[in-house]
Amino acid sequence: MAHNFKTDLWVDWCPGCGDFGILAAIQQALAEYNAKPENYVIVSGIGCSAKTPHYVNVSGIHTLHGRAIPFATGIKLSNPNLTVILDGGDGDLLSIGAGHFVAAGRRNVDFTIILHNNGVYGLTKGQASPTLPRGTKTKGLQRPNIYDSLNPVALALSVGYTFVARAYAFNIKNTKDIILKAIKHKGTAVIDLLQPCPTYNDINTKEWYDQRIYYLDQEKDWDPVVRKPEEEEVEKKYLQAINKSLEWGDKIPVGIFYQNEFVPTYEERIKQNFPNYFEDPPATSQISKKDGSAIVDMENIFRDKIVRK
Ligand code: SF4
Repeated sequence: MAHNFKTDLWVDWCPGCGDFGILAAIQQALAEYNAKPENYVIVSGIGCSAKTPHYVNVSGIHTLHGRAIPFATGIKLSNPNLTVILDGGDGDLLSIGAGHFVAAGRRNVDFTIILHNNGVYGLTKGQASPTLPRGTKTKGLQRPNIYDSLNPVALALSVGYTFVARAYAFNIKNTKDIILKAIKHKGTAVIDLLQPCPTYNDINTKEWYDQRIYYLDQEKDWDPVVRKPEEEEVEKKYLQAINKSLEWGDKIPVGIFYQNEFVPTYEERIKQNFPNYFEDPPATSQISKKDGSAIVDMENIFRDKIVRK
C-alpha cells in the first residue's frame, strides 16, 4: 500500500517558489520508496527550506542554523534503521554550516542532503548567499554582491561525498528520480537543488534556468557510477565529475555527477572498531525497567564524579 506523505498544513512559501517543486518531489520519492512513514526522519536547519519537515507526513525536526548535519548524524547513529533526509539552504549549509558540510563528506554517514540552492537568504529578506556569483545584483541587494561564490558540486566532490548530483526544482519527475537514487545510495548523498526564489532573486529565474539546463543522463556515454573499486576507475569517474562541475553559465548540467559505493560508510568504520555497537544502538537500548524506574543509577554517577574530584 502506498503511503500518503502530504500534510494538511498551510504551506508558508511565496507563490512561484521552487520549494514547492522540491516538496512535491520529496513526497513522491518517499511514496515510491514505499517505506512506512515512521521509518523516515527529515531534519532541517533554519531558512525557507527548513520548513520542509513541517509539510511531509513523517517525523521531522527543525533545528538550529547550520546544525542540521550534526543532528542528522546523531539520529542515524542512534537508530541506523531510519532513513534520514536533511533539507537545508545554500546559506544554512554552505555558510554557518560549512564546517559540518565538509566534515559530512569525510564521514560518509548513510543519509541524504537536499541543498536548496537559490543564491539568497530568502527568510531574512534576500541577502547574498554563498552561491550567488560576485558582481550579481539581485533585487534584494542594494549593490552587486562583493563575495566570490562557492560551487556546491565541486566542493562536495573535493571533500569526499560519494553521491553528488544536481536537480532542478521545476522538473519534479527528474528531481524525484534523483532523490530516490540518493536515498538508495549507501553513504552520504548530496543534491545541489537549483531553486528559483521569485521574491528576492530576479536573476536566476525559472526562465533563466529553462534556457540553460540540460540533462546528463541524455548525454551520450555519460556514466557517473564507479563500477569497480580500482584506482584507475575511481580516478576516471572522479575527474569526469570535477570537469563537469565547472560548467556553469550558458549551459548548466543537471543529473548525477558521481557515485561510488565502494567507500566504507561511517557506520561500517565504527563497526570495525566496535563490532557490537549496532546490535544495541542508543535508540533501541533499554532505558527503564518494567516498572518505569530508570536503569541508570544517577546517584552512582554523581557519587563517582564527586569521588573522582
Ligand atoms: Fe521561496 Fe524566496 Fe519566498 Fe523563501 S523568500 S519562500 S525562497 S520565494
